[in-house]
Amino acid sequence: MALELQESEFIWKDGEFIAWEDARVHLLSLAVQFGVSLFEGIRCYEAGGRRAIFRLGAHIRRLYNSCIVYRMVPKYTREEYAQACVDVVARNRLQSCYIRPMVIRGYGAAALDPRPSPIESYVAAWPLDTYLGKGALEKGVGVKVSSWQRAEPNTFPMRAKAAGHYNAAMLMKMEAHADGYADAIALGPNGLVSEGSGQNLFLVADGELITPILDGTSLQGITRDTIIKLAAEMGIPCREQLVARETLYTCDELFFSGTASEVTPITSVDRLPVGCGTAGEITLSIQRRFMDIVKQRAEDPHGWLTHV
Ligand code: PMP
Repeated sequence: MALELQESEFIWKDGEFIAWEDARVHLLSLAVQFGVSLFEGIRCYEAGGRRAIFRLGAHIRRLYNSCIVYRMVPKYTREEYAQACVDVVARNRLQSCYIRPMVIRGYGAAALDPRPSPIESYVAAWPLDTYLGKGALEKGVGVKVSSWQRAEPNTFPMRAKAAGHYNAAMLMKMEAHADGYADAIALGPNGLVSEGSGQNLFLVADGELITPILDGTSLQGITRDTIIKLAAEMGIPCREQLVARETLYTCDELFFSGTASEVTPITSVDRLPVGCGTAGEITLSIQRRFMDIVKQRAEDPHGWLTHV
């Protein structure tokens, strides 16, 4: 069930391309010592020979916001980072792939004032299929409520996408796999539902979409935002609200949203079937609409696609 990295040829580093195997950092860089690395995960889709990156501008904006929070001034403009993403896909001759821009603190500082460590920028990309395994998008997955919870607001700034935060996500993921689940849903410190290990969450109850409010324990997902907009266009009511754990067991449908996970139906939580235990109708209709746009089968009225 664990995904292995598929190499490509080149990685963009501070304005130049270097070979994949040359993208090395020192053991004592702050990125390694303390997890000071801000990053994004972006998908590029290929359809009929045309490649398109989904919501590139929004991802780069979020990367910049992460940089502001962590007081790391990026060396390049947003436009330059966006262009680097396009160039990495093109230079590696990738088709459908996952793009990983990273802004990290390098080698230099000996302690917790990071200023002697330079800020380095990278963009890598590699092929990525369905994140939660073969058939996950069609058939759905089983998840558990994690015994690990999300960090309290104002401990780690969870709206920033920072590498260090993902230590907790890995604990959730390892526990889920060890217990025979595809992934996990985490509660926040108030005991209410927050999000998945690397995804946001939507419930369907009585024909309405519900997603946990952004309470400072979760990431402000770009796929989440996409689904809220698509639901409005599809005439499906959608509300952001507090979600109690037990609602996960009693709702009609449940799904993950995320760049890697796309729109993945959840068919059971803690081995209790969600609804009738199969991928839900509303879930699949949203997934279809999402896929039609990213795979260029439908118009792109919001200008979400950047062609490579
Ligand atoms: N929450 C977390 C913790 C994530 O890592 C991700 C993936 N970036 C998401 C939610 C979903 O965000 P997005 O839709 O922007 O990929």
